[in-house]
Amino acid sequence: MILENITMPLFEEGLKKTKSVIIPFGAIEEHGAHLPLGTDIIHMYEISKKASELYTVFVAPPVYFGMCRSTVHHPGTISIKGDTFRALVRDIITSLYNHGLRNFVLISGHAGGTHMSSILETADAMMEELPEMKASVLSILNLGLASWDGLVENLKDSHAGEVETSVMMHLRPEHVIGSAPDEYPSFPPNILVRDKRRFWPGGVWGTPSLASREKGEKLFNASARGLVKLVKDLEMWEG
Ligand SMILES: [Zn+2]
Repeated sequence: MILENITMPLFEEGLKKTKSVIIPFGAIEEHGAHLPLGTDIIHMYEISKKASELYTVFVAPPVYFGMCRSTVHHPGTISIKGDTFRALVRDIITSLYNHGLRNFVLISGHAGGTHMSSILETADAMMEELPEMKASVLSILNLGLASWDGLVENLKDSHAGEVETSVMMHLRPEHVIGSAPDEYPSFPPNILVRDKRRFWPGGVWGTPSLASREKGEKLFNASARGLVKLVKDLEMWEG
């Protein structure tokens, strides 16, 4: 049940079948020279929609904006401040909880550490306030570790590389412009830098050269199945 497509009565009917909702998070962020800026949210929303075809669960509208630290200087990235982001997460959860939803899968196609910490911090605080709230917080990479077994060749791949390029070749081939060189960022350990692009010029973390459309389709379907399993696990969770 895709929230943005259903009516008020269908929402009420749906609540009789499930109290679970997937909230897909992402970012508008550079993804190398070859993938669209919306890669994270396109990826995450499509997986969430696929999961809802396989299992009865609500899918909230995608949260397009997130916190992008290391790519904030790369052209096209839109990053919002932590206070704005946490308030947004809080308001969305509060609203859905007030309508009767109880199990919240907060899953993000963007895996930045600050971004994920903000979702985690907010969900944790809200669990204290909302007695019946259950939550799962994770990025697509965490989900992948459990469900991409044997499909990914480069296990260090994380951004605009093998995985995301493959999935976008499957989901949005018309928006993938060729490929990009393999790359890893070279940020100095433990020191913050002002000019972030200098240490990560191409904005790729991994190996786009290993991508294929066939691999993308398999990764996508495995992710959707992994997400369904997670929703079921959360529903069964007691505590
Ligand atoms: Zn990404």
